[in-house]
Amino acid sequence: MLSPIGQMELPGSADQSFQGVYCVLSSSQRSCILPGMIKPRLPGFTIVDHPLVKAKVTILRNKETPTELFRRTLHELTALLAFEATRDLDVVEIDVETPLERCKGHRLSKGLTVVPILRAGLGMAEAMLDVLPQARLGHVGIYRDETTFEPMSYYFKAPRDLADSDVFLVDPMLATGNSAADAAAKLKAGGVVRLRLIALLGCVAGAQHFKRQHPEVPVYLAALDEKLNERAYIVPGLGDAGDRYCET
Ligand code: URA
Repeated sequence: MLSPIGQMELPGSADQSFQGVYCVLSSSQRSCILPGMIKPRLPGFTIVDHPLVKAKVTILRNKETPTELFRRTLHELTALLAFEATRDLDVVEIDVETPLERCKGHRLSKGLTVVPILRAGLGMAEAMLDVLPQARLGHVGIYRDETTFEPMSYYFKAPRDLADSDVFLVDPMLATGNSAADAAAKLKAGGVVRLRLIALLGCVAGAQHFKRQHPEVPVYLAALDEKLNERAYIVPGLGDAGDRYCET
């Protein structure tokens, strides 16, 4: 039986629990679940199914992509995901005067806040501010312990009065899901009610982990990969997003 992530209790490893999904895929398809293929089975997850997204993800994956192109593509991809992640924002009707006549228009009715997880989320935050220039900015500093892969928190600063704001948590990689889940918990404890997570690449285990802890938080991804390796890197993935963005 095929099991949707986000709903099920997961016996055993993530790979086992997804056997049902993978059994309908050829071996070459199995390493990377393409957008749309399992979309209906991922409640709460939107894997943005668009040719531009697919092409830009491929540029990011390519180990030969130089830093400048990597950065530009990460920005563009984030903006495309933002388009989808902002689809249901509330608007109010307003009047607007064009050079020709008065007509009805709209403005966003709620405050917006973007919160990158440092440091890899910084590039995504810049791209979010390009499309949401009015947004406030918070920061969550979390690194993962390289032995336990547990999230180690070192910084948290968010704007006040977040209860009324639509908050976008951004981090390129939803790998173990630990950092995103931890950051989401901090934001909720700080009063956030309407939270969304935007990541570029996710993997099955990380997606499951995040959804178990935050079932009500919508997640937007450009692609969902099969697995994590022994160092908790997403495979096939794109490598270390922070290192590739910062050229470290
Ligand atoms: N963080 C990254 O930058 N890449 C991964 O594959 C996993 C976590």
